[in-house]
Amino acid sequence: MNLILIAPPAAGKGTFASMMHEKYGYVCISAGELLRGVDPSTELGRQIREVQSRRELVSDVITNQLMKERLMKDDIKNGFILDGYPRHMPQVTAINEICDELSLHIDYAVLLNVDYETALKRTLGRQICPKCKKTYNRLTGVNAPKVENMCDDCNVELTTRNDDNEATFKIGYSSYEKNCEPVIEYYRKAGKLIELDATGSAENTFAQFEKEVSKRND
Ligand code: ZN
Repeated sequence: MNLILIAPPAAGKGTFASMMHEKYGYVCISAGELLRGVDPSTELGRQIREVQSRRELVSDVITNQLMKERLMKDDIKNGFILDGYPRHMPQVTAINEICDELSLHIDYAVLLNVDYETALKRTLGRQICPKCKKTYNRLTGVNAPKVENMCDDCNVELTTRNDDNEATFKIGYSSYEKNCEPVIEYYRKAGKLIELDATGSAENTFAQFEKEVSKRND
């Protein structure tokens, strides 16, 4: 299956995508990672980093082109999940054109629904072990470290990410709401939207997804 993942910040997109990868072998293609993956010594790489350092969005022309090149690789043949793309309507048009050209199709757009408060708590409470990269959360009651601020496995003090603050979160969330709403409506009208409640555990969200897909295939 080829999927598009739509979700506000902290909805658990990364976890969902890696569960899909483990179970079905789908390749997760993150728009952010594609951009970060461009060699910084090239002109394109330099441009991308400059735009990102101003906390602005890289132009659609560049993102669409990178996406197209990525979708031309053989490893997507067993299915792929697009993360962070398309994030607004012009990119929906672009992905439709890319799919036409490459004879690919999108089966479903998966929407991970999380309310503002839950997503905020997940963001502000997020802690990461600098050694093993395991993530914890000190606010949500899920994945709390056994000892406050310490990794369960490494006995190392946990850190937070610089951009995990309320101001950054608000910007991300409102931009998501503004840009993604038409995208969600588009896939809903096309009969391709699968809406999931992602406020619970990752396993729960994943189970909902499988149930919804099997319902549609009946
Ligand atoms: Zn650790």
